[in-house]
Amino acid sequence: AAPLDPVALRADFPILGEQVNGHRLVYLDSAATSQKPTAVLDAERAFLTHANSAVHRGAHTLAAEATDLFEDARAAVAGFVGAAPQQLVWTSGATMGLNLVAYAIGNASVGRGAPASARLALAPGDEIVTTAIEHHANLIPWQELAARTGAVLRHIPARDDGTLDLDAAATLISPRTRIVAFTHVSNVLGIVNPVAELIALAQQVGAVTVMDACQSAPHLPLDLPGLGVDLAVFSAHKMVGPYGVGGLYGRTDVLEALPPFLTGGSMITTVTLDSAEYLPPPQRFEAGTQPVGPAIGFAAAVRYLDAVGLENIHAHEGMLAARMAEGLRDIPGIRLLGDAAGVERVGLWSFDVDGVHAHDAGQLLDARGIAVRVGHHCAAPLHSRYGITASVRASAALYNTVDDVDEFLDAVRGIRPYFGVE
Ligand code: PMP
Repeated sequence: AAPLDPVALRADFPILGEQVNGHRLVYLDSAATSQKPTAVLDAERAFLTHANSAVHRGAHTLAAEATDLFEDARAAVAGFVGAAPQQLVWTSGATMGLNLVAYAIGNASVGRGAPASARLALAPGDEIVTTAIEHHANLIPWQELAARTGAVLRHIPARDDGTLDLDAAATLISPRTRIVAFTHVSNVLGIVNPVAELIALAQQVGAVTVMDACQSAPHLPLDLPGLGVDLAVFSAHKMVGPYGVGGLYGRTDVLEALPPFLTGGSMITTVTLDSAEYLPPPQRFEAGTQPVGPAIGFAAAVRYLDAVGLENIHAHEGMLAARMAEGLRDIPGIRLLGDAAGVERVGLWSFDVDGVHAHDAGQLLDARGIAVRVGHHCAAPLHSRYGITASVRASAALYNTVDDVDEFLDAVRGIRPYFGVE
């Protein structure tokens, strides 16, 4: 593919033409949610206009057409992460995917599921290992699972530079470890974590691996089966796709061993008043009416990303991130979080402005039409680790330009002078 031309791509994202507070919109909040190209908006609208119908039911023509489009979408999204269609479960997003896994393992732990489910069951004293840099979505479901099962939660610490301490991981991950859950890329630090090493450590002790791919799937080429991870989640809305839909990838044998989380229609074979038999994956995990329109929009999103090329996206965003970091390091009073040397990154930086609250900094940027995220970004423990409660995060995507970064840097230079901080 040709190198990425963000100016040409911007024409595909109508919202980028908006004015905000009298300025052109500089959207640097794609790690929270990405903007959506016309191709995605059109795909959902075309489906709803011409083929809308409930899938996997009904004998009528539209139902069959909708089912084909829905299953084509599954194949497209599965293929985007290197997987087979049966390995891709539709969820409402990454949070739901992680909760699905944690609740399903909880069900296995009380003896529910097929005989194969026993291998996933947790008993008191078993250990769940996660990291100190997780988004709350990959932390609290494990806290809850530990509380329900008597398992013990342990955390791989991060070093001051934001990298995970693999030596500590090698000690923490022991024969008592049953689950290792970690993020591929932190939504605060932007560092690509050594996930192959974590998976290898987990595999040595037979633990199940769960990866949060929210912040990697939009930015890096992924081959989840090749990586060897057991389960992984991502959200369409961060991948230029719609809200309300996401993917849970699973290794076939792991998905087959996992009992259901939500139950009801669309996930059963036979039902009596007293019991039910469940469909195999992925339908076993898709109780209720499926998110057909969003899934079709999601497929259009991954086709869009593929057409631009994930290598191109990664290179472009890496260039923007490097420019951001160079500029930010030169501004007095700015402390970058996770400014580790020699690591692979995606295009986001979080930083603290000495003497200015993140929310005030964010407001000043907003007055110039620059959209960034402020707060703890759903990673409060990580902020505590750095002795702060909030930071400013700028996150780039394929449609951001060097001009976006330069306008942002110029505005950041003005923050401390504006608030009269020396
Ligand atoms: N994990 C990470 C790393 C994230 O950045 C996010 C979104 N901020 C989530 C999980 C949760 O994703 P969602 O809100 O789409 O469920």
